[in-house]
Amino acid sequence: MEDKVIVDGLTFVPYITSEEIRQQVERIAAELRKDLQGKRPHFLCVLNGAFIFAADLFREAGLNDASISFVRYASYSGLTSTGKVKQLIGLTEDIDGRDVVIIEDIVDTGLTATQMVNDLKKYNPNSIRFVTLLHKPESSKTGFKPDYVAFSIPSKFIIGYGLDLDGKVRNLKDIYVIKD
Ligand code: 5GP
Repeated sequence: MEDKVIVDGLTFVPYITSEEIRQQVERIAAELRKDLQGKRPHFLCVLNGAFIFAADLFREAGLNDASISFVRYASYSGLTSTGKVKQLIGLTEDIDGRDVVIIEDIVDTGLTATQMVNDLKKYNPNSIRFVTLLHKPESSKTGFKPDYVAFSIPSKFIIGYGLDLDGKVRNLKDIYVIKD
């Protein structure tokens, strides 16, 4: 682990090690195996930030019958007075009757998570479970509670392990926090 990372003039310091991440991935994978026993779940990885976490968790879960696909939210300017609207794109799998496991990088305000669960309910899945690598409960504007949380953290800006700053540093194996 590097003792600091500088991106776009901002300094980040070590926060969560790859070993701590690995332990939490193992814990959540074991819970999913137990909770999804006898089911044929479909995992939905929310791009871009969750791709590394999703790859690790999906492998560790060891559910041979589980499928996975990738979705993202695209912001566009709606025609309504509300301005910016987010639209779910990339859902090609038929999730009717399936047990869906959403894998997200961060639940911050909870707005994206709430919208995603509501959007997916329209496709009539049997169940929806929500996994997040990081949860910032203090930032919640919605009261949204993820079902599985690897790390609950204060409302500070984080990078690494899939999380970017301006498209950079997603490659870092550990997680770093912005220096005060
Ligand atoms: P919200 O819960 O506010 O709707 O949005 C969560 C999204 O905001 C995450 O999926 C992530 O893309 C972005 N985000 C929130 N906090 C951070 C952070 O600390 N670092 C990075 N890189 N992205 C963040």
